[in-house]
Amino acid sequence: MEYSFDRLFIGGEWVDPLDGGVRNSLDPATGKPWGKVAYGGQKDIDRAVAAAREAFEGPWRKMAPWERAALIRKFADLYATQVDALARIESQDNGRAIRESRGDIGLHSQYYHWFASLADKLGGRTIPMDDSVHAFTTRLPVGVVGTITPWNVPLMAAAWKLGPALAAGCTLVLKPAEQTPASSLALAKLFEEAGFPPGVVNVVPGDGPVAGAHLVSHPDVDKIAFTGEGATAKTILKTGADTLKRFSFELGGKAPHILFADCDVENALNAATGSAWALCGQSCALGSRILVERPIYEQVVEGFRRNAARVRVGNPLDQATHMGPQAHQQQLDKTLSYVAIGKEEGAELVSGGARLDGDGYFVAPTVFAGVAPEMRIAQEEIFGPVAAIIPFDGEEEAVAIANGTQYGLAAGLWTGDVGRAHRVANRIEAGIVWVNTYRYIRWSTPYGGVKSSGWGRENGIEALDSYLETKTTVIST
Ligand code: NAD
Repeated sequence: MEYSFDRLFIGGEWVDPLDGGVRNSLDPATGKPWGKVAYGGQKDIDRAVAAAREAFEGPWRKMAPWERAALIRKFADLYATQVDALARIESQDNGRAIRESRGDIGLHSQYYHWFASLADKLGGRTIPMDDSVHAFTTRLPVGVVGTITPWNVPLMAAAWKLGPALAAGCTLVLKPAEQTPASSLALAKLFEEAGFPPGVVNVVPGDGPVAGAHLVSHPDVDKIAFTGEGATAKTILKTGADTLKRFSFELGGKAPHILFADCDVENALNAATGSAWALCGQSCALGSRILVERPIYEQVVEGFRRNAARVRVGNPLDQATHMGPQAHQQQLDKTLSYVAIGKEEGAELVSGGARLDGDGYFVAPTVFAGVAPEMRIAQEEIFGPVAAIIPFDGEEEAVAIANGTQYGLAAGLWTGDVGRAHRVANRIEAGIVWVNTYRYIRWSTPYGGVKSSGWGRENGIEALDSYLETKTTVIST
C-alpha cells in the first residue's frame, strides 16, 4: 500500500489543511526531516467534527451492530497485512526500535478483532420493579469522540481507543501528537480501504494548544479520550469544562518494580532491566523505580550495570537495535536534565548518564543506585531510559515506598512466596500489578491508572463503559 502524509483525512476524503499547513516531520535518529506531514488548525477540526457528527447521526448509527463489527474486522485483517509498513513508519517518526514496534503493532489487529466481537453484545438488563411498570436499560454510544494521543505509542494509543469506541457505535476525530503524526495518517488510509462510511474516523494531526484545545472545547464533541501527561490533562479539563463533555485519561506513571530477596533474581533482573529501557524509557508503565530488598541489593545493582552494557543503542530501523533515540529534542533535554538532578541529589551513577555522539537524540541506558524515595528522580516521571534503584528492608517499607508517589498506573513484584504476592499486590495503589512477570497485557486486560495516573480503563470489557451511556426506560404496564 502507498502511504502519504501531506493531507488530512476528513469526511472520507484526503484534503489540504484550511488553516494548518504542511511541515517536516523529524527523524529523531538524525535530527533531520524525513517526510512532509499535514497538520490542521481550528477550521480543520471544525470540519472533522462536522463530518463525525454527520456519520454518527447517519450511516454509522443506522448500521446493525454486526455490520459495524464486520467492518471493524475487515479493517483489522487489513491492519495485520500492514504491520511491517506501519512499524517502519512509526519507528522512523518516533525512534522506537523496529523490533519493538513490530512486536507491539503486530498485536493491534487482535485488539480491533476483540472489540469487534463485542459490538453486538452490548445489551442492557431488565430491572425488577412492581407490577405497574416494566423497566429496562439500553446502552447507547456516547456520540462523537475526540481522541488525543501521545508521541511514544501513537498506533497503540489509537487502537486502545478506536477499538472500543467503534464497537460502541461512536464516531471519531483522532488528533495524534504533533511530533509523530505519520502513523495515524497511515491508519486513516486503512479505514478508507476497509470501506468505512465517510466521517466515521477522521484524522487531523495538529498542535496541542491549537487543534487539540479546539477539539476539547468543541460543543459538538461528546467525549475526549486522552493519553498524555497529567499537566496536559488538567489543562484539558479546564478547556472542556464549559461543555461538560465526558473525559477519560491515561496519564503518566512512575511504576515501582519490587524485587524481594526470595525471588528468582536472574529472571527478575532481566525483566527489570528490559522494562527500564524499553521504548527508550518512554512508556508510562515502565518499572522506573526498582525497589530491591537489601540482601540482594548489590547483586541487582551489578546486574543492572552488566545488562546496561549489553544494550545495543543505534539506528531504530535496524532489526538488531535494542534501543533507539529519544523521540525528540525536548525529551532528550528532559532526560539529560534529570541525570543532572540525580547527580545533584547525591544518587550514585552506575551506568550511562550521557548523550551519545552524533546528531540523533541518543542517550545511554542510565542507572542510578542508592536512590532515596523522596529524591526527584524517584518521584517525577522522567520518560527516558533512567532507572532509579532504591534499597528497602521488608514488606512494610516496600509498600510504603511503592505507594509514596502521586502516580498509580502499574507496579511489579517478584517473590517466591505466594502469600506475600497476594498481600503486597493487594496493598499496592496501581491500576495493574504484575507478579513474577512484567508488562504482560492484552486486549482483554483492563488497563488504566489510579491517583494522578488517570481516569477510566482501556482494554477489557471495562473499556466499553466510557464510550456508552446507559438509558433506563420505565413503561407503565
Ligand atoms: P502530552 O500531554 O504532551 O501530549 C499528548 C497529546 O496532547 C498530544 O497529542 C498533544 O498535542 C496534545 N495536547 C497538548 N496540549 C494540549 C492542549 N492544551 N489541549 C489539547 N491537547 C493537547 O504527552 P506526550 O508528551 O505526548 O506523552 C507522554 C505522556 O503520555 C507521559 O506522561 C506518559 O506517561 C503518558 N502516556 C500514558 C499512557 C497510559 O496508557 N497511561 C500511555 C502512553 C503515554
